[in-house]
Amino acid sequence: MTAARLFFVGRNYAKHIKELGNKVPDNPLLFFKPLSALGREGHTIHRPHYGEQFQQEAEVAVKIGSAGRPIGQEACTKAIEAVTLGLDMTLRDVQQEAKEKGLPWDEAKGFDDGAKLAEWKKVDDTVDLLSIHFFCHINDELKQEGDTAEMMLPIWKLVEAVGAKWSLLPGDVIFTGTPAGVCDIQVGDEIRLSSEELGIDETFSVKPPSP
Ligand code: ZN
Repeated sequence: MTAARLFFVGRNYAKHIKELGNKVPDNPLLFFKPLSALGREGHTIHRPHYGEQFQQEAEVAVKIGSAGRPIGQEACTKAIEAVTLGLDMTLRDVQQEAKEKGLPWDEAKGFDDGAKLAEWKKVDDTVDLLSIHFFCHINDELKQEGDTAEMMLPIWKLVEAVGAKWSLLPGDVIFTGTPAGVCDIQVGDEIRLSSEELGIDETFSVKPPSP
């Protein structure tokens, strides 16, 4: 199934906000990436041609199954068709410069292979979106550990917030923000995303810029 749009939530875990020196927002910070950011080569991530500081953000991602503007926990949870783990790849130095100049983040985040997804898991009674524990290892070293219970806004609230601004479409994907522990990624690194609750354990390989 192809995605309709790729939404991203920034600053949804207090510790990650602290590590980047950002302020806690009143409303979720939302941005898009183009569908081309999903890339074409499965679990291969070609590093962008530009930028110095290439970083991973491991995140829970959800896929919307029905159109509309759901309101409240029950309706918003029902609108979620599937869940997985994903990577919001970021050129941190490019983002920092954009922030300082008040410019958009597209060049820092919207590049090819900037949005990677593990296998989708159908949301049913066995999946509790409020307590998904997940890990991100770089070359077998644990770098990020998160739990959706630690989010400032739970997943259903994020669905509500996105729907309040853009009427949801089936196939929309929402990346729900990253916990602390983002780090610099080099060509040759292996980024592993795993979650026992979701039955996910998948590795993404970082390669040189695509020719
Ligand atoms: Zn992110």
